[in-house]
Amino acid sequence: MPDTSEPEFDAIIVGAGINGLSLLHRLRDELDLSVRVFEAGADLGGTWFFNRYPGARLDSESFTYGYLFSEEIFRGWDWPERYASQTDVERYLHYAAELLDLRRSIDFNAKVASAAYLAEENLWAVILASGQAVRCRYLITALGTESVPYLPEGLVGLETFEGVWHHTASWPQEPVDFTGKRVAVMGTGSSGVQVITEVAKSAAQLTVLQRSPNYCAPLRNSVLSAEEQAELDDRRLAIADLCNRSYVGFAYEWDSRSGLDLTAEQRREVYEQLWQRPGFAKWHAGFSEVYSDAAINEEYGAFVREKIRERVSDPVVAERLTPTYAFSTRRVPMDSGYYEVYNQDNVELIDIKATPIDRFVPAGAIIDGRLHEFDIIVFATGFDAFTGAFNKIDITGLDGLKLTEHWGDGPRTLLGIAVHKFPNFLMLTGPHNKGVFCNVPICGEQNIRWVTDLLSHLRESGYSYLEATAEAEQEWGEHVIELYEKTMLARSGTESYFTGVNVPGKKVTAYGYFGSLPQYAARCDEVAEAAYKEHFVVR
Ligand code: NAP
Repeated sequence: MPDTSEPEFDAIIVGAGINGLSLLHRLRDELDLSVRVFEAGADLGGTWFFNRYPGARLDSESFTYGYLFSEEIFRGWDWPERYASQTDVERYLHYAAELLDLRRSIDFNAKVASAAYLAEENLWAVILASGQAVRCRYLITALGTESVPYLPEGLVGLETFEGVWHHTASWPQEPVDFTGKRVAVMGTGSSGVQVITEVAKSAAQLTVLQRSPNYCAPLRNSVLSAEEQAELDDRRLAIADLCNRSYVGFAYEWDSRSGLDLTAEQRREVYEQLWQRPGFAKWHAGFSEVYSDAAINEEYGAFVREKIRERVSDPVVAERLTPTYAFSTRRVPMDSGYYEVYNQDNVELIDIKATPIDRFVPAGAIIDGRLHEFDIIVFATGFDAFTGAFNKIDITGLDGLKLTEHWGDGPRTLLGIAVHKFPNFLMLTGPHNKGVFCNVPICGEQNIRWVTDLLSHLRESGYSYLEATAEAEQEWGEHVIELYEKTMLARSGTESYFTGVNVPGKKVTAYGYFGSLPQYAARCDEVAEAAYKEHFVVR
């Protein structure tokens, strides 16, 4: 008889994306724990494995998007572009996994179906979709924040469509050829903007089905020269430090001045300079008041709207592409020629709020009574983000409590990492964690260091049980909501997937942590400095 009171693994990690891989390395190679990773995909990479649609690329600077903790990994890799393509990010993850010899600890095509905490044994019983059962002491999720694709409900007649359709986040492994095809893309968020720009280059006809326009800003990608690469290699620690001090994990600092101390002309000059900079500088390197002061927010929003209108020849189309909500209350998609696409003869923009889709038919879709013929439809309709991936696993804690039940009225966590009544269960970038709105590997690294230190502490102290207290969980939830309520997002009432509003029936609330990364990290450090005892039951 196998001994069922002993764990087969000290830790099981669910997910072999960028953060799961790094956690595996820390726990296995630094703490010498026995660790197994279960990954639903056929290979590693998570987001970068599944989101392989044309045009997919980083909006984070490539050199901040990786394992900055390792000089060897950093120096041994050259990013060809400032903002890497999906192919290059995937290649990078394979390179790092090879260097750290990670594959031997990962099972692929291994979807975790359920996990139940066994109180008597103080173990987690994990069951895979294949029926395989394993037990571990610590169950740690690295599910990512956007990993469950959302396909809108009520796509009447889609099953009759005789062409092919794909969701950007579950893209086929084989490339899809759009050359000479009649294509429709539904969705104009970050994924839609990237795929539309790329598909417009080869499709015979592209129809964009837009529900809401967004504030897109030019990415301004460039090739990284050998000199730039060498210079970056020498600045690894400084780059990491800058990211860690920033609001959301990027290598940017806010303008040190208050926008309110400057004249409108001076602010305009700042906006114009910002606009020339690559990447998210346009979002995260201006006046921090864009997040807090309604007048500055509106002024900058008007500036961005002006930039959008300048890029589109037809004023009617330009108006359709111009958002009206408050800037920064939704993710700013980075674009590489997006608006110019609408100046092409082969591209049509349909506002499906004004003229809704009647139904899909074998040849395409009937919109406002007119047949539009499509060979391929792309759904860039986003994700059941933040909690969706947790809901897909049947997770049971103490006293038979289901995680879905515990989170029935919105997420309840401590630091977005632990949950009361779910002992020895830890989450990387879980809901209410700073990692929800962050340069993923930067916040991931903060989480990973914290979790690694925690497990190290437990082992050194001879403990094997850890559970967030109800009070600590309650207090964290209140802190998260208090910060959220101060945001432009909450105050403006913008509909944003940040609040879960995109998925019918989902609780509309704060899913992320809206303080800064340093503020979040300081909270985590306080818990560690108190030897975890004030926030957790440890024994
Ligand atoms: P998203 O931002 O949620 O956008 C979904 C799009 O689908 C929106 O335009 C939405 O319209 C539309 N949509 C949703 N339901 C619809 C319906 N029933 N009918 C018609 N349209 C509908 O999703 P995403 O573009 O995949 O981006 C999600 C997140 O993934 C990003 O915010 C980012 O964090 C990440 N991402 C990152 C990168 C990168 O770093 N390079 C690239 C892509 C994605 P509404 O606006 O009206 O809701």
